[in-house]
Amino acid sequence: WQTLSERINRVAPSATLAVDSKAKAMKAEGIDVIGFGAGEPNFPTPAPIVAAAAEAVQDPKNYRYTPTAGLPELRKAIAEKTLRDSGYEVDPNQVIVTNGGKQAVYSAFQILLDEGDEVIIPTPYWTSYPEAVKLAGGVPVEVFAGADRNFEPSLEDLEKARTERTKAIIVNTPNNPTGAVWKPETVKAIGEWAVEHHVWVISDEIYEHLNYDGAKTTYVGAAVPEVRGQLLVLNGVAKTYAMPGWRVGWMIAPIDVAKAASKLQGHMTSNVNNISQRAAIAAVSGSLDAVYEMREAFDRRRQTIVAALNDIEGVNCPTPTGAFYAFADVSALLNKPLGASKASYASTSELAAALLDEGHVAAVPGEAFGAPGYLRFSYALADDDLVEGMKRMKQWVEA
Ligand code: PLP
Repeated sequence: WQTLSERINRVAPSATLAVDSKAKAMKAEGIDVIGFGAGEPNFPTPAPIVAAAAEAVQDPKNYRYTPTAGLPELRKAIAEKTLRDSGYEVDPNQVIVTNGGKQAVYSAFQILLDEGDEVIIPTPYWTSYPEAVKLAGGVPVEVFAGADRNFEPSLEDLEKARTERTKAIIVNTPNNPTGAVWKPETVKAIGEWAVEHHVWVISDEIYEHLNYDGAKTTYVGAAVPEVRGQLLVLNGVAKTYAMPGWRVGWMIAPIDVAKAASKLQGHMTSNVNNISQRAAIAAVSGSLDAVYEMREAFDRRRQTIVAALNDIEGVNCPTPTGAFYAFADVSALLNKPLGASKASYASTSELAAALLDEGHVAAVPGEAFGAPGYLRFSYALADDDLVEGMKRMKQWVEA
C-alpha cells in the first residue's frame, strides 16, 4: 500500500534549502565550500532587537501562549510600520503574525483556494510558491518574462493565462530570484487588472527595503487603493532585520480573510514564539538605520558580484536593483567542456551540482525557479568569501 499522500508526493523539496544543506554537509566534512545558495543575511541581528528579546526572556509572562493572531502590540506595530513604509492605513485586526513569511505564503493559499483553482505565478518565481499552491489543491500557472523585460510579466501574457478558474496572482517585488524591482507601471497595471477581473493579489514584500541604484519598491496596495479588498500582503523580519532564525512573518488581509488565517493557524501552530514576537516589536517599530547600513554592504557586494560574473566567459548577468540575488544567464556554458574534468552538462541542475562538487561553489540552479539556463547567486555573504567564490567559479569554468 501507499504510505504517503498524493498531495505530499506532488510537492518538490525546497531546492534552495537542498543546495544549502549539501554545502553545509560538505563544510562539515572539512571541505571549504563558498555558499551562494541561501537567501540568508550574514549579519547578526541588530543589538537593540536582541536586547529586547533578552529582556523579554527574563519575564515569566512571556513564557505563555500569545493570542493566535499575534501579540496585540506587534499587530499594532506592524499596522503602523505599514503606514510608514507603504503609505496606507491598515487596521491591526487585519494583521496575522505568522511563523516566518513562509507560513504566511502557505496559509494564503490554504485559505483562498479550492481544488483546481489557478494561481498565476510570474516566472522566474520563488521556489516555494508553486509548491504552496499545490499543497492547497491549486494549480500553479507560470507566466514567464525574461531579462529583456526586467523579468516583469506583461498584461498580454497575463490575459493569455487567465481563465475562469484564475483565483489569484503573485506579485513579488523586489524579486527573488531575479533581484528585479518591478516598474511602478507594471505593479499598477497588475493591480488594476486584478480588480477588473476579480483576482486576488498576493503581494510578497519581504525585500521591500533592499533597493539599489535609486530603484523604489512599489506597493500594489498603495498604487491601486481599490485592490485592498482583495489583497494579501506577506512580509517578515528575516531579510530586513537579519532575523531569519527568529521566525516571524505576517499577513495583512481584509478582516474576514485574516480571521480565516487565524482559524487555520489556531490548528497548526497556535502562535509564533512569544520571545521572537517581542523582538519583532523592537524591529518593526525601531528606526531603519541598521537596515540602511546593511543595504550599503549588500550594494557593494552586488556591484562586485555582477562585475565578477560578467567577467566569466559564457556568463551574462543583468544588474539587479533589489533584494540580494544575482540571477545569471549561463545557458552558453551548457554542453561545453568545463572544469578540470572537461565534462559537459546538459542542464543548469547538473552544472550547479558539478560546480559544487568540483569547484566548491554553491549556487542554485534556475530549474528551482522555473527558469532553466540560469544560476541564482545570493550575495548575502561576507565580501572576502564572495571574491573567493567568484575566483573559484571563473577558474572552474575557464579551466
Ligand atoms: N518570500 C520570499 C520571496 C522569500 O525569498 C522568502 C525567504 O527566502 C520568504 C518569503 C520567507 O521568508 P521567512 O519564512 O524566512 O520569513
